[in-house]
Amino acid sequence: MGGPCEAKRRILGCVAESILLYAAPIWGSVLEINKYNTVASDKDVWLHKLLPDITPWYERSCGEIGYYLTQTMTAHGSFQSYVRRIGKAENDICLYCSSEIDNAEHTIFRCPAWADIRNLSEITVRAELRPENIVQIMMEADFKWEAVESMVEKILKRKEQDNRQRGPNTQQH
Ligand SMILES: [Zn+2]
Repeated sequence: MGGPCEAKRRILGCVAESILLYAAPIWGSVLEINKYNTVASDKDVWLHKLLPDITPWYERSCGEIGYYLTQTMTAHGSFQSYVRRIGKAENDICLYCSSEIDNAEHTIFRCPAWADIRNLSEITVRAELRPENIVQIMMEADFKWEAVESMVEKILKRKEQDNRQRGPNTQQH
């Protein structure tokens, strides 16, 4: 393999990882792998659930983390629990299924509104996607990485569009 494509991916990956590092300051230096693997603060519970051991993540040969994957992994994005946290919604309730908490886990793995998009990716990767296995599956092959990335992109883009259409005045549900 190798070649310019892979080199480009590595660079993009590094940029995106900087965003992840910025979003999760407890990581500190990327050299603090052991620290990451042993320390879990409340703040990083979600990230730890997705990525219990960071070593294979740093050893992976490819896979860039795009905008929507970063949103998913940091839980900073079109999730009501985050929207409420930044003061733009009054509660965490999912606007699509009325589940009490719409967070990254609900949106990506559970919300029935996105079942079709989720199923399509699950057929491609031939596995049921869960927070505990999604990163592992992504790292198994390029096409799996792309299937997961395309899934989170489709879901979060739709949520962004819907939010824009709803406008600022109807956020409070
Ligand atoms: Zn929902």
